[in-house]
Amino acid sequence: MTATRVQPRPSILTIEPYVGGESSLPGVNRIVKLSSNEGAFGPPPAAQEAYRRAAGELHRYPDGGATVLRKALGERFGLDPARIVCGAGSDEILTMLQLAYGGEGADIVMSAHGFSMYELSARYAGSQVVKVPERNLTADVDALLAAVGPRTRLLFLANPNNPTGSLLPRAEVERLRAGLPPEVLLVLDAAYAEYVTRPDYEPGAALVDASLGRGDNVVMTRTFSKIYGLGGLRLGWCYAPPAVVDVLNRIRSPFNINEAAMVAGVAALGEADWIAQSVAHNTEWRATLTAGLEAAGIRVWPSEGNFVLADFGAPATARAADAWLRQRGLIVRAMGGYGLPACLRITVGTGEECGMVVEALGAFMREGRQGV
Ligand SMILES: *Cc1c(COP(=O)(O)O)cnc(C)c1O
Repeated sequence: MTATRVQPRPSILTIEPYVGGESSLPGVNRIVKLSSNEGAFGPPPAAQEAYRRAAGELHRYPDGGATVLRKALGERFGLDPARIVCGAGSDEILTMLQLAYGGEGADIVMSAHGFSMYELSARYAGSQVVKVPERNLTADVDALLAAVGPRTRLLFLANPNNPTGSLLPRAEVERLRAGLPPEVLLVLDAAYAEYVTRPDYEPGAALVDASLGRGDNVVMTRTFSKIYGLGGLRLGWCYAPPAVVDVLNRIRSPFNINEAAMVAGVAALGEADWIAQSVAHNTEWRATLTAGLEAAGIRVWPSEGNFVLADFGAPATARAADAWLRQRGLIVRAMGGYGLPACLRITVGTGEECGMVVEALGAFMREGRQGV
């Protein structure tokens, strides 16, 4: 075959480029960005200070082993630092896992409305994506297990899930893990772990440990992009069995975590009170936002994250609501790309921002919906 120009592997061109939450609207002065689930209060003060202090040392390469950050994570979460690998966002870790354990001829399994990065990075690796129907916008363990076949190499579960907000109870996650063959890697994505209020919740570290010597096939991923307010620095991490840690340390680029992100991350971990206040804020305002939208006649799916999924019943209504919000400077996330075109995902912002959304959507339901 003679190509007329360079060609990537065929699977690459099946990828739909990731579209992030918008952050500007033409002709609107004050923008309220509630489209990317960033924390409501910006970066923690100590993290900002650490970032500024790092400026004078930016000519130095960072510590490629991310030693201080892994140590701080180990202390904060009671985990062995040797079993932690950091990444430029948890997205980088997800991608590394896909490339290392999947590839041409492999399948990955995810639930129908699971996080879009799983599909994108699977295609990058060359794997086929198997999407499994959900029940009530919640992952269905029996259906997930039934979808696992001889080609399956990875199974991704965000718990809580983005964009649905749904949470699988601990016993269900354990049942999922118990039903997987040892050669399938279970990736538990706990990006929203800090926001969960259900008492029996366990983000995944216990299941990682339970897999030791019994497949070594569970990884938990976490991020600094949500409650820690550092999405712009790109910082995430995972807790994994030694064999998976070894694989990730072979393939990651030697300096994948930059110095500024590392020191800001360590400082953010020290802001326990600030984090606790952010969690309390989210718990309160997630409920207030939910109640306000429901009072306006909008269905809201139960969420354990820092966002809610508002269901307008029909794609045209959701599109009209989105346009109505944008005219008022409120940017939320349309969900057509997730197969949920009747829904909008709304991040829990400050109290004022939540109030603006409730007021605007209340007006939309009274006046703006006609003719849709
Ligand atoms: C936001 C998010 C992430 C975090 O991505 P980063 O690369 O760490 O910013 C991971 N998983 C889910 C489900 C998310 O919503």
